[in-house]
Amino acid sequence: MKVRLPVTVESHRFSTGDLIGGDLALDFINTVTGRDQSPRDWLDSYARLLEWAELVRLLPKEVLRALARKARSEPAAAATALARGKELRETLFALVTGIISGSAPSKAALALLRKHWIAGVNAHELRFDDGHVVAELCNDAAHFDLIASMIAYRMVERVLPLPKDRLRICQGPNCSWLFIDSSKAGRRRWCDMAVCGNAAKSRRFYARSRQRRKSRRDE
Ligand SMILES: [Zn+2]
Repeated sequence: MKVRLPVTVESHRFSTGDLIGGDLALDFINTVTGRDQSPRDWLDSYARLLEWAELVRLLPKEVLRALARKARSEPAAAATALARGKELRETLFALVTGIISGSAPSKAALALLRKHWIAGVNAHELRFDDGHVVAELCNDAAHFDLIASMIAYRMVERVLPLPKDRLRICQGPNCSWLFIDSSKAGRRRWCDMAVCGNAAKSRRFYARSRQRRKSRRDE
């Protein structure tokens, strides 16, 4: 079994630069960064989770405001919901990296995803609007686990049906962010070329110059 590195919970102000996954379900998994070296968890509170959900436009503003009020009056329940959300997040990371490396997910992982997904389905109702039947969030859906339910819903509806070679993990050092490769050639390796691509390149350059120095010394 792979050794899990200790995770530091870090205060972080989310910005659009954190949204590189190609789908917000992957961006949610990426709220832990550096899983390969020094993992940092950016969800330091339920309020932060709401801040993230607002940035990615996961839920309507009035639902987010209702959840923020509820979290202020029931902090312990909000904290346990955050822990459940993180359990889903870690399960999804294992599931997606498993798909990338060609291994089947565990039954427990699928069962957990299914539980949240069903809650996500239940949070929707079907309406007939302008000639179309559309799934819309129910008016009374504002409960603490709604964010995790919506992530699971997106994951099942939008991310998991993708061709498996389009799901990627960044090759940059201290990153491990997941993303959908929608490039034409299908060879994207970095979450962001300017960040991880350059870091990896300079690391290779450093390794090469060290090798050159070493061979010069050996002459
Ligand atoms: Zn990266």
